[in-house]
Amino acid sequence: MSTYRAPLRDMQFALRELAQIEDVAKLPGCEDTMDVLDSILEEAAAFASGVLDPINRTGDKEGCTWNNGEVTTPKGFKEAYKKFADAGWIGLPVPAEYGGQGLPSILLGPTLEMWNASNIGFANGPLLNQGAIEAIELCGDEHQKKTYIPNLVSGKWTGTMCLTEPQAGSDLAQVRTKAVPEGDHYLITGQKIFITFGEHDMAENIIHLVLARLPDAPEGTKGISLFIVPKVVVNADGKLGERNDIVCAGIEHKLGINGNPTCTMSLGEKGKGAVGYLVGEPNRGLEYMFIMMNAARFSVGVQGIALADRAYQSSLEYAKERIQFREVASRSKAPVAIIKHPDVRRMLMWQKATIEAMRALAYVTAAALDFAHKHPDEKIRKESKAFVELMIPVVKGWCTENAIDLCSNALQIFGGMGYIEETGIAQQYRDVRIITIYEGTTGIQALDLLGRKLIGDMGASATAVGKKMEKVAKECAASGNADVKSIGEALLASLGALTEVSQWMGMTGMGDMNKALACSVPYLKLWGVIAGGWQMARAAQISAEKIAAGDPEAEFYKAKLATAKFYTTHVLSQGVYYKKQIVEGSADVMTLTEEQFELDRKSAVLA
Ligand SMILES: Cc1cc2nc3c(=O)[nH]c(=O)nc-3n(C[C@H](O)[C@H](O)[C@H](O)COP(=O)(O)OP(=O)(O)OC[C@H]3O[C@@H](n4cnc5c(N)ncnc54)[C@H](O)[C@@H]3O)c2cc1C
Repeated sequence: MSTYRAPLRDMQFALRELAQIEDVAKLPGCEDTMDVLDSILEEAAAFASGVLDPINRTGDKEGCTWNNGEVTTPKGFKEAYKKFADAGWIGLPVPAEYGGQGLPSILLGPTLEMWNASNIGFANGPLLNQGAIEAIELCGDEHQKKTYIPNLVSGKWTGTMCLTEPQAGSDLAQVRTKAVPEGDHYLITGQKIFITFGEHDMAENIIHLVLARLPDAPEGTKGISLFIVPKVVVNADGKLGERNDIVCAGIEHKLGINGNPTCTMSLGEKGKGAVGYLVGEPNRGLEYMFIMMNAARFSVGVQGIALADRAYQSSLEYAKERIQFREVASRSKAPVAIIKHPDVRRMLMWQKATIEAMRALAYVTAAALDFAHKHPDEKIRKESKAFVELMIPVVKGWCTENAIDLCSNALQIFGGMGYIEETGIAQQYRDVRIITIYEGTTGIQALDLLGRKLIGDMGASATAVGKKMEKVAKECAASGNADVKSIGEALLASLGALTEVSQWMGMTGMGDMNKALACSVPYLKLWGVIAGGWQMARAAQISAEKIAAGDPEAEFYKAKLATAKFYTTHVLSQGVYYKKQIVEGSADVMTLTEEQFELDRKSAVLA
């Protein structure tokens, strides 16, 4: 696989022309954004290609090793993490008072994309570290913030998120890890599984953010608290003290992302318990996790864009090199590169169009995250928050589900060579499979979209976003440019379908929640294809204007317009299918009894 080349031009387009980064740069505290934008993108691209990409294949091959509680990461990972930290990438969104750069969330879109495209195994570390920083920043006390955040930002220490237990996966109400108060701290016992970078050799300390229950905690989600559990306890003077009783009992053998360790963590196996410090108030741990979940789920959505884009780059290069058959439409008998064949073109176009739509939607959502946090006008803050809340499950669920299909499609372009490890595309295909699972499976995202985001606010946010999309669709439908017009008309029709399906979901959910939930994932995908179509319609509008004005980059804009047209006919058109599946098919999902699933495995009773 060739060196990763970041799609900088498309990132700039999505940032500047769709997500309106210039408006983000007007927010308080974000004034430097435009001055640093180009250099951040260029330097991140160079870092991704020069430092992370070269250890991606080797990291996958070598994997991590466990020896008596110690974990060794693949060759080069430790050095790369130091370089990553020294270059200031960890601190990009962290406030300056903790040693960060205090830049807006929108910049996480392209930078996260580059880290994950070049090396997702590595990039998972900073992603979870960011989650730990945010947890302490949002919910910790001053002492905790000063003790831990600067060291997590400098790269001296790293952070983890310890939620999952054998019996508590999606359903965190079942967390059993116990925390018993002792003086100014708690003693924590239990087991956490699947903890990314739970143990490693890249930093001198690991700060675990652990969900656990206090002795008198109520049952269920309202009885879970959040604790800081350092691998090495930090003394009052900030120096490292005793090794804490939290150890890595083993690491998993996985399908992909082999560059990072997925650890089983035992707390309190050696003695009374691991020393932990309560973050925020007792019994509010899950609530705190939900505050941070928007950022974490957004990041995993971006992982989908990243992996799909890397696979697209590889398959495009292969399609230009691989010679098979003559061109059907040509008189020449000479065999040609497979990119000349229409079916290969279709696969490439599908990748390109879907990736661009996902990227645009993710960046627009990230900009709204900044408006939600920092806009001086409360009304805009509220509207942006509602938009983000609605879009997060869509960005997470739709982009990750697409990514699996897109990576599979990229592999298909390689033919048999795709199935062979040397080309590297097989690793992409293995790596991508996890992203619809962690940070909430697609089923859980769909539950969130339908239950909390649609039915929960009686469709208010969905209606508000629908109006924004309708405005663009109507403008496009009235365009003098034939392509933009057809895109607008198709978007208008799809929006009609979305409204009908949303109303159907709301009404059905009130009477028979099982029936509504039966097609909640197709409903999430319907939102995805239409929200992506909304962004592609905007891209088409802008491109047509640029072309008409004789823009020097007319070729870029012509390609964008043609890609938006393809998106409309090949991706947005899936909306019709989803509508039929949901409205006509939901009733058929729960018809069998559990026993009836097994009947085809029984011996036949012949008359
Ligand atoms: C490589 C890797 C890294 C990970 N890293 C971390 C980490 O750093 N920290 C951490 O805490 N955890 C981590 N996890 C755990 C991960 O977050 C969980 O695996 C995930 O939340 C799903 O939980 P589960 O595996 O128990 O699946 P389950 O919850 O058992 O789900 C199984 C299936 O049932 C479906 N399902 C369950 N309930 C419902 C419902 N109510 N409605 C519809 N469908 C439902 C799910 O969608 C899924 O398809 C990691 C996991 C892996 C594999």
